[in-house]
Amino acid sequence: MAIEPTAAGGPGTDIFDAKMIIGGEPVDAADGQTFEIVNPADGASFATAPLGGKADVDRAVEAARAAFEAPKGWGTWAAGKRGRTLAKLADLLKKNSEELAQLESRNTGKPITAARGEVVGASLVFDYYAGAANKIFGETIPVSRPGLDLTLREPIGVVGLIVPWNYPLYLASWKVAPALAAGNTAVLKPASWGPLTCIRMAELALEAGLPPGVLNVVTGPGGSAGAALAAHPGVGKVAFTGETTTGQEIMRLASGNLKKVSLELGGKSPNVVYADADLDRFMAEAPGAVFDNCGQDCTARSRIIVERSIHDQVVERFAEATRKLVVGDPADEGTQIGPLVSFKQRDRVKDYIDGALAEGAELVAGGGPPEDPALAKGAYLMPTVFDRVGPEMRIAREEVFGPVVSILPFDTEAEAIQLANATPYGLAGSVWSRDIGRALRTAKGIQSGAIAVNAGTVVHVEAPFGGYKMSGVGRELGMAAIELYTETKNVFIDLR
Ligand code: NAD
Repeated sequence: MAIEPTAAGGPGTDIFDAKMIIGGEPVDAADGQTFEIVNPADGASFATAPLGGKADVDRAVEAARAAFEAPKGWGTWAAGKRGRTLAKLADLLKKNSEELAQLESRNTGKPITAARGEVVGASLVFDYYAGAANKIFGETIPVSRPGLDLTLREPIGVVGLIVPWNYPLYLASWKVAPALAAGNTAVLKPASWGPLTCIRMAELALEAGLPPGVLNVVTGPGGSAGAALAAHPGVGKVAFTGETTTGQEIMRLASGNLKKVSLELGGKSPNVVYADADLDRFMAEAPGAVFDNCGQDCTARSRIIVERSIHDQVVERFAEATRKLVVGDPADEGTQIGPLVSFKQRDRVKDYIDGALAEGAELVAGGGPPEDPALAKGAYLMPTVFDRVGPEMRIAREEVFGPVVSILPFDTEAEAIQLANATPYGLAGSVWSRDIGRALRTAKGIQSGAIAVNAGTVVHVEAPFGGYKMSGVGRELGMAAIELYTETKNVFIDLR
């Protein structure tokens, strides 16, 4: 095994050296360099990972190319056989879910219960695309010339998959599963704040029967390893999830050989609440929609846009619900909010909080680190609620990516929609109203890729997900993701 995670080991009690997976083998970086993996709950380093760079990306792309082009390579397998292999991987993720969840929790600081949910989520994504593998087909088209015109859906070849740290395993599954189901081979580059479960997934993929080289993992900094992958001439497509500014850089890097590019980027999603909403249901779901994963979620409904007549009531109830959230050690079963992923991220979020105070927003809950001395060594911030936020304030426009919500009042439906759209982003949103006509008009008016009406959940494995405006290019999940990983070939057969 390339890494020796301990399911039971306490934070900082054991150290292990993770390896990359290239061509089915656990390997170090070509130059032997490593970086430390720190548990954000206590600041202790508990592992190292290889600091990969261009030479390692070259090796991995070569391994993926060999696995794709081999006479009996992955792309030539019967689609159903590829699907069955991915189903085995889904089963192995489930079978090893406790180990994976412990690893993810320790690496990223997410509460153990949430980490377990993430592993189950990733295995469901593999299940879905295991079933999709033999349902990728073309069309016959009645062209005007005498003959038969048909389309074939073919894999692109080697794809580069670059993922962030907020849901490392889950978001990797969104890319790896459809890419492999369609017959591609892949090089996965996880974020440096969350590489361990991606490495473990690649090991389990080998155990499931994926040939060596079909799924490679290169760890290392975005600016070197990630950039080398995005620019690599041997890679036909790059799929990226991360910050909008990084996405812009990926597009530039990918332009050299005109790679296909799909981007899942940042968000500043609204939660629009009308006075006729079922407020009990709203209160049950809205805190989770912004504070889950400590607010480090691209779909975080970080702006509550509330009809003025219920504004005071919503502020009071939301602040009360926020104060009840259990902030604590991610290893504790009762913890709902763990630390942020790193001290750097904690400081970045704290800057946003200080900025909001300076701009005149009113703090109604949280605002700083927890008082509990047991949490003093971790990268914690209390879930934070700001009222009286103006749409021009930074906190209302920029992605904070931490446990911070802004509340803004509105008077009319048109104003609600205008406020919802008043950011460069367009990823997700929720609308709450018992008037289904108004809810639907508002859902249609919001320029976002995923809207939930009277619900917090905006992500479904079977349905397309992606961004309008600066939130992305392309749609992941559902059968839409298959479009991202296939080329369409048109074949005309003259029948005269
Ligand atoms: P990030 O952009 O810093 O990094 C993402 C990945 O890109 C990492 O693997 C990183 O190493 C790599 N990278 C960084 N610079 C690179 C470069 N120049 N070339 C190639 N690769 C590079 O993002 P992050 O901080 O890891 O993640 C948080 C961001 O991700 C937030 O903005 C969040 O909204 C976004 N996100 C979006 C979605 C979505 O589906 N739309 C989902 C989750 C997270």
